[in-house]
Amino acid sequence: MSAEGEIRSTCPYCGVGCGVLLRADGRGGLEVRGDPEHPANYGRLCSKGSALGETLGLDGRLLAPRIDGVEAVWDDALELVADKFSAAIEEHGPDSVAFYVSGQLLTEDYYVANKLMKGFIGSANIDTNSRLCMASTVAGHKRAFGTDTVPGTYEDLEEADLVVLVGSNLAWCHPVLHQRLLAARARRGTRIVVVDPRRTASCDAADLHLALEPGTDVALFNHLLAAIADAGLIAPDRAGAVNGLDEALAAARATDVSATGLSGEHLAQFCAMWTGTERVVTVFSQGVNQSTSGSDKVNAILNCHLATHRIGRIGMGPFSVTGQPNAMGGREVGGLANMLACHLDLENADHRMVVGSFWNAASAIPNAPGLKAVDMFKAVGDGRIKALWVIHTNPAVSMPDADAVRDAIDGCPFVVVSDITAETDTARLADVVLPASGWAEKSGTVTNTDRTISRQRSVLPSPGLARPDWQILAQVAQRMGWVAAFDWQSPAEIFREYAALSAASAQFGRDFDISGLQGLDEAEYDALSPTRWPVTREGGRERFFADGRYYHPDGKARMLSVSQRGPAARTGPKYPFRLNTGRIRDQWHTMTRTARAPRLSAHLAEPFLDIHPEDAAQLGLAPAALVRVRSPQGQAIFRARQTNTVARGQVFAPIHWTGETAPAARVDAVIPSAHDPISGQPESKAAVVAVEPF
Ligand code: SF4
Repeated sequence: MSAEGEIRSTCPYCGVGCGVLLRADGRGGLEVRGDPEHPANYGRLCSKGSALGETLGLDGRLLAPRIDGVEAVWDDALELVADKFSAAIEEHGPDSVAFYVSGQLLTEDYYVANKLMKGFIGSANIDTNSRLCMASTVAGHKRAFGTDTVPGTYEDLEEADLVVLVGSNLAWCHPVLHQRLLAARARRGTRIVVVDPRRTASCDAADLHLALEPGTDVALFNHLLAAIADAGLIAPDRAGAVNGLDEALAAARATDVSATGLSGEHLAQFCAMWTGTERVVTVFSQGVNQSTSGSDKVNAILNCHLATHRIGRIGMGPFSVTGQPNAMGGREVGGLANMLACHLDLENADHRMVVGSFWNAASAIPNAPGLKAVDMFKAVGDGRIKALWVIHTNPAVSMPDADAVRDAIDGCPFVVVSDITAETDTARLADVVLPASGWAEKSGTVTNTDRTISRQRSVLPSPGLARPDWQILAQVAQRMGWVAAFDWQSPAEIFREYAALSAASAQFGRDFDISGLQGLDEAEYDALSPTRWPVTREGGRERFFADGRYYHPDGKARMLSVSQRGPAARTGPKYPFRLNTGRIRDQWHTMTRTARAPRLSAHLAEPFLDIHPEDAAQLGLAPAALVRVRSPQGQAIFRARQTNTVARGQVFAPIHWTGETAPAARVDAVIPSAHDPISGQPESKAAVVAVEPF
């Protein structure tokens, strides 16, 4: 585990899941370097990862439980939480309570939260901020494959001859993976296409940038599917088992590609590159997912790979990249309102029975999905939720229609927040605030974007009275009366139980299987090297679906018949601009950690709005003028940056600034809560706004 006194762990930021080597500096801090042996990064780190050591410290840290703003002892706080949740369940039923959790949770924490809500409270009202990140991918995967499977690996990006980045600014949002892609490009001449309305840093290395109209990805990939058919590349025989080809192709041929706004020359170039190259990887991310048609966009992409059997083979396949360090672990453990553990389905009675009997569950596992994030906060707002527990996330800032969400939380009868930060916008609204252990203090596992399970290890003691999340959740569960089911002494015990559950569910022949890890003792768990699932006693496998075997009951994949639908909100005279949102290179989420490193804040120091120079001139904006952005939901203030990286009629603002760092620049205050009807993922990149001098 340790190399010359260093401890191996994993970066807590994005889904690339880079390995880090940590050494305590004796002054409460850490020296951090990339782990040369970790298969995600082989020693590389991006700016955020390399500055991790500068982001520690106790400034602003939550160090003790608080009840109504007053410091309390753990026993009182835990009793109160257990009593309030039990009382709400007793009086109003299990669906009157909810957990809103985070991709920052370790898999073991996620497992405990999910077991408590679905197996013992008896509700599926547990959702996660991963809903804002990749829920559309989950829905698309399940519709096409029958499971939420990422078919390929990072190595596929290095073995491809063409990599298409769709709605992904890989250079800023998954920098180490981008570095790996550029290294491969230097070695083998990989061509890169970027599909994005905005000219991002990822375009610098691209052979082709398709600046399509926002929300028209389905039109583009339907056009490509028709071109694939015209080129005689449909390969159902090799794919072996794909349903829905004819219907999907008919829908593709009926699509009007002019919706994309792309020139015939660019479209022809893209189709020729795609059809003329067998080894294609299509990487997609938030620009695809965060949309009212996100699931359809995902399936339009998957259709092209299924039709050509360019999936699960070396250097080929669709590849979803996730935003958070453990979004994948949360998906695997069932931490979304519409999933059961181990990629099993809530709607399937056999699946519920196996999980319920494995857990000796106190309540029947619900047979229908719980409230997804947007609906959950609506239910908080209209009084259906009587007790809410928010863990490691800040929905009063990060949810769309953030002002309404903030008001809803404020009006909820009982709110608990577990966090490492004392004064988040959400923590200020809580009745009980619980101090949690943070990165480098807690211990457990995370799964990265290519299914690799890595250990996060504790190097520093938890400060003050902070405790690991699994412990806090288990201690509340035990006080609610479920002592034996939540009686773990270590994260290793929880992991073993989780792996044993995957063994119990192996009878269903699902993709997710870590049964080979159920026998790990404490020392083996502690020493666990990065391991890509599945891991059975017989071994593992690198990729899925090259053999043409999928997870629908008939063993076939499904191509979906999808049609182009634009964003829900339409621009018009009152709101003439389309607002795109996203990350910047050196900040993370609401900046509670990254803002502590001066060198990270030096990159882009204040909230901004990118606007085309001709639009700025029309509005009479001076260089670097302050502007007010108004939408039907709310308003925010930014400094305008005039740039032709955005098209006319479009503007872009970053997501990071909050009530703490820039109260007037909360971009989510102007984002509507419109969401994909299938995945529940909000449309965070296509609000309509007015821009005016401030
Ligand atoms: Fe961390 Fe992601 Fe950067 Fe790797 S690429 S160091 S996981 S932020």
